[in-house]
Amino acid sequence: MKCRFCATPLDQVFLDLGCAPPSNAFLSAEALGSPEVFYPLKLFVCTNCYLVQIDEVQSHNAMFTPDYAYFSSYSRTWLEHAQRYVERAIARLDLRSDSFVLEIASNDGYLLQYVAARGISCLGIEPTAGTAQVAQAKGIETLVRFFGREFALELIGQRRQADLIIANNVLAHVPDLNDFIAGLKLALAPEGTLTVEFPHLMELVSQRQFDTVYHEHFSYFSLHTACQAFAAHRLRVWDVERLTTHGGSLRLWAGHQECNRADTAAIAEVLKSEANAGMCDQSYYAGFQEQANTVKNDLLEFLLAQKRGGLKVAAYGAAAKGNTLLNYSGVRSDLLPYVVDASPHKQDRYLPGSRIPVVAEAALSEHRPDYVLILPWNLKEEITEQLDYIRDWGGKFVTAVPRLEIL
Ligand SMILES: [Zn+2]
Repeated sequence: MKCRFCATPLDQVFLDLGCAPPSNAFLSAEALGSPEVFYPLKLFVCTNCYLVQIDEVQSHNAMFTPDYAYFSSYSRTWLEHAQRYVERAIARLDLRSDSFVLEIASNDGYLLQYVAARGISCLGIEPTAGTAQVAQAKGIETLVRFFGREFALELIGQRRQADLIIANNVLAHVPDLNDFIAGLKLALAPEGTLTVEFPHLMELVSQRQFDTVYHEHFSYFSLHTACQAFAAHRLRVWDVERLTTHGGSLRLWAGHQECNRADTAAIAEVLKSEANAGMCDQSYYAGFQEQANTVKNDLLEFLLAQKRGGLKVAAYGAAAKGNTLLNYSGVRSDLLPYVVDASPHKQDRYLPGSRIPVVAEAALSEHRPDYVLILPWNLKEEITEQLDYIRDWGGKFVTAVPRLEIL
């Protein structure tokens, strides 16, 4: 077991969440009669480069099944984020109609639709066929592929190096990190720009976001570690922005080592805040398991208290992070009878592991729960606004991360 970036042997555990099924493996009613495969969910931190990573990449293909149920376009907040980004990137990088934009893990075209609308040619690559088909139906050229050196060499062969490469929330999902970054280096035009967004490990720790850990997330980055990983492939990060998405993310702007961009002051600022937090020290990573256990215990105490008091609890948002939280906490349908989700691709199915049914929003008005537990806490403003009507019958909202809170 070696670090997937620097190959140092891994021996320091960061978090052990036991075993769980892949978090996007929702079950049909027929599948309830069959067993599920549970994989260990254990993270290590590399004592050399501080990359936090899953101990072993389980079957990569098992994680990306054809019925993979995450469609980016079902979140309004996420669409707005994508649109703002596209407008900013076009202005900052002076992209024109003859520019070429490549997005890796382009999902259902949630972002490239805004690039295409500005008349700029673009290509998406996306490993899950179901979401790629939705993008293709919108007229966005999308290839069902994984990205890496091999794909980048094909682009070079077609003289299609990109002026902008977008890799949002994909770095964590990459099994062979060095092959992926080598591909970015190859696919980028000489003065091209690469933007990469990923959840910031510093926020994960400070906000106790252990529920963002799942099998499909192989790596967890600080800016310190990300800069090292890019520099090893002669890519230079020249700007960083702190975003509120996914509980606190970083957006890196990078180019070739020798590109014309000067480094902004923001890079030194974020690196300093990481160092001040202790991220270049092993002890920083040692206390996180206890933080996760506190979240789990508080949630169980809350659910048991409502059960004993005869009050009704429902959950909202069948997101991957909810599955990690519910499975690690051992919550089943006796404590949480159903989860509401807006996506028709998830309704009438069951959460992996916990097997809690996913239903449409109408269930809330019908059952009038006393509490609605918001599982995707990163979307809590959007969700409390959308479900404000539960207050008509005295319903309240609850979040479990970073701490149990009645809103
Ligand atoms: Zn390492």
